[in-house]
Amino acid sequence: MERRHYKHIILGLGALGSAAAWALARRSGGDVLGLEQYDLDHARGGSHDHSRIIRLSYNTPFYVELAKGAYAAWARLEAEHDLPLVHRVGGLDFFPEGGAIPLSDYADSLTAAGVHFDLLTGEETRKRWPQFRIDDSVRVLHQADGGFVSARSALGALRRSARDHGARLLEHTAVQSVRDLGGLIEVVTSSGVFEGEKLIIATGAWTNEILAQLGLQLPLTVTQEQVNYFAAEHLSQFMPGRFPAWIWLDDPCFYGLPVHGAPGVKVGQDVGGREVTPATRTFEPDLGTLRRVSRFVQRVLPDLGPHLFSKPCLYTMTPDRDFVVDTVPDHPDIVLAADAAHGFKFAAVIGEIAADLAAGVTPAFDLKPFAFDRPILREANPVRRFLT
Ligand SMILES: Cc1cc2nc3c(=O)[nH]c(=O)nc-3n(C[C@H](O)[C@H](O)[C@H](O)COP(=O)(O)OP(=O)(O)OC[C@H]3O[C@@H](n4cnc5c(N)ncnc54)[C@H](O)[C@@H]3O)c2cc1C
Repeated sequence: MERRHYKHIILGLGALGSAAAWALARRSGGDVLGLEQYDLDHARGGSHDHSRIIRLSYNTPFYVELAKGAYAAWARLEAEHDLPLVHRVGGLDFFPEGGAIPLSDYADSLTAAGVHFDLLTGEETRKRWPQFRIDDSVRVLHQADGGFVSARSALGALRRSARDHGARLLEHTAVQSVRDLGGLIEVVTSSGVFEGEKLIIATGAWTNEILAQLGLQLPLTVTQEQVNYFAAEHLSQFMPGRFPAWIWLDDPCFYGLPVHGAPGVKVGQDVGGREVTPATRTFEPDLGTLRRVSRFVQRVLPDLGPHLFSKPCLYTMTPDRDFVVDTVPDHPDIVLAADAAHGFKFAAVIGEIAADLAAGVTPAFDLKPFAFDRPILREANPVRRFLT
C-alpha cells in the first residue's frame, strides 16, 4: 500500500525546495516527501544551467551575514559528497562613475561584517584582468571569496543527499490543490492525494498559483531572463583561476562567470527580460536582451565573440527583491520559501531556515527582512526596486 502520510511535504524541487528536502531529511529521516511537476532536471523554472554566482559582497550587512551562512551550508553538502561545488575564483563588482548603485553600500556592508575586500582602480583591474576594457572612471571592488556554484552538480547533490537521508522525491507529480485542515495539510496531486503535518511551498514562478489555494497572493513579478554564451579565440583566458565572477552594478546591470560546464563564456543582464507568467513565457531567447548584452560585451569584454547560444530562464521577484522565508499568516503549519531571483547562492542556507521554521526551531538569522506580511508586500501597487 503506497504511503500517503508524511511529517513534511515540500512543493517544488528547484534549488530552494531541494535544499529544504535535504535539511528536513537530515532531521526527520524518511518522513519527507518532495513533489515536482516536471522531471528534476527540467529547464522551465529558475534553477537550471551550469553555474550561478556566489558572493559575500552585498549591499546590506544582513545579506553579507546570510551569504556567510550560505558558504558554510554548501561546505556541509560538499563534505557529504566529497565534491567541490563552490569555486572561489574571486569576485569583481564594477561601479561606473555616476552609476545607479553606490559602491559605499557594498563596502560599508562588508566592513560591518568584517569581510576583507580591495578597492581597485580601472588601471589596477586591467593589469590583473586584461580581459576587461574599462577606464579609470570605473571603481572596482574585489572580494576573494566571490565565485560560482556548480549549479547542476549542486542540485544533483542536494537531491541525492535528501534521498540518502530517506526523503522520497517524486517527479512528474503536479500539485493541483492544497487544503489546510488544521494540524494536517491535504495535497491533491496528479498522482493522488497526500497529507502532511507541515508543508513547505517552494514553487518559484508558480507561487501565486499555490497561494491562491489559501486565498492569498503576493505582489510577485515574473520575468523571462536569459543567459548568453560567447566564444573566445583564447578560451583559456576565461577559465576559473584566470577570470573572475563579475557584476557591472549599474542600470542596466550585467554579470558574468568564467567558463564552466559549457564551451563558452556566460554573460547576462540582470532584470533585462519582459514580464511573463509560467503559461505565457517562451523558450526563445529575446533578441533585444541579446543585443544589449552583445553591445556591453563589445565595449567591456572585446575578446569575446561571436555569440554561441542563449538559454531562457524565469526570475520571480518581490518588489524589494528580498526573499519571503516565513510561516504563512493564519497557517502555522505552512512555510513559504519564495525567491527573489538572486537565490541560488543562498539555497543551501534558505533550505535550513525553512526547515527550522517547519520544525518550530528559531532560525539563526533575524528574518524580519523576509517576512510574508512586511509592509511593501501588503501594498496594492508597490514601487518595484529590482536593482540594488
Ligand atoms: C538567468 C538567471 C540567472 C541567475 N543567476 C543567479 C546567480 O548568478 N546567483 C544566484 O544566486 N541566483 C541567480 N539566479 C536566481 C536563482 O537561480 C533562483 O533564485 C533560484 O534558482 C530559484 O529557485 P526556486 O527553487 O525558488 O525556483 P525554481 O527553480 O523555479 O523551482 C520551483 C519549482 O517548483 C515546481 N512547481 C511549481 N508549481 C508546482 C506544482 N503545482 N506542483 C509541483 N511542482 C511545482 C516547478 O516546476 C519548479 O521546479 C538566476 C536566475 C536566472 C533565471
